[in-house]
Amino acid sequence: AKFTDLGLAGWLLRTLSELGLKKPTPVQANCIPKILEGRDVLGLAQTGSGKTAAFALPILQRLAEDPYGVFALVMTPTHELAYQLAEQFRAFGSSLHLRCAVIVGGMDKLKQAQSLMSRPHVVIATPGRVRHFLQEDPDFPLVFAKAKFLVLDEADRLLNSEFEADLRVVFQCLPKNRQTLLFSATMTSDLQTLIEVSANKAYFYQA
Ligand code: AMP
Repeated sequence: AKFTDLGLAGWLLRTLSELGLKKPTPVQANCIPKILEGRDVLGLAQTGSGKTAAFALPILQRLAEDPYGVFALVMTPTHELAYQLAEQFRAFGSSLHLRCAVIVGGMDKLKQAQSLMSRPHVVIATPGRVRHFLQEDPDFPLVFAKAKFLVLDEADRLLNSEFEADLRVVFQCLPKNRQTLLFSATMTSDLQTLIEVSANKAYFYQA
């Protein structure tokens, strides 16, 4: 497959070639067209498979068409992953005026609150800290009221009892008609249940 076959816009194809990415990985070739079609996706893919670009590229393409309000909430289990995700969003979105907020524990709360209130396009968050903001002030849930995408990166680790209460709060703040994209290294019984309940709509990718 080629990047030009996936339905990506010219500006993104130029960015990819500037970054030296020549051809899509399997998870990208399979998932990007489905995400652009509006489908929910569950992708089983390891770190290093190119899974970040598989969701970041179609999200940035939709964002470029409609840049109002918080567009995507990307949940991930650790700080390190959050910063790595932000780096990739910034690289792929370098020709947009992308506002990306990273909301993670252990870092300056005031700065994070300011970045949340400055109408970011993409919020990349760990569960505990974003829950803290959502419950702290009634203005924060409004930030997510029109989100178009929810991504669970490392979904197998997120859909774990450790994060359950946090995620419940987060999901309540998102609109029902959003697109949901889950990427996971392994299949778990929680994910199996999710596929079954959304079977009519979600596209399931496995390498
Ligand atoms: P990920 O699986 O998202 O953690 O990506 C791992 C690394 O692969 C990142 O540093 C990407 O920049 C790189 N990458 C993503 N897509 C491609 C591609 N199509 N060709 C070559 N490298 C890629």
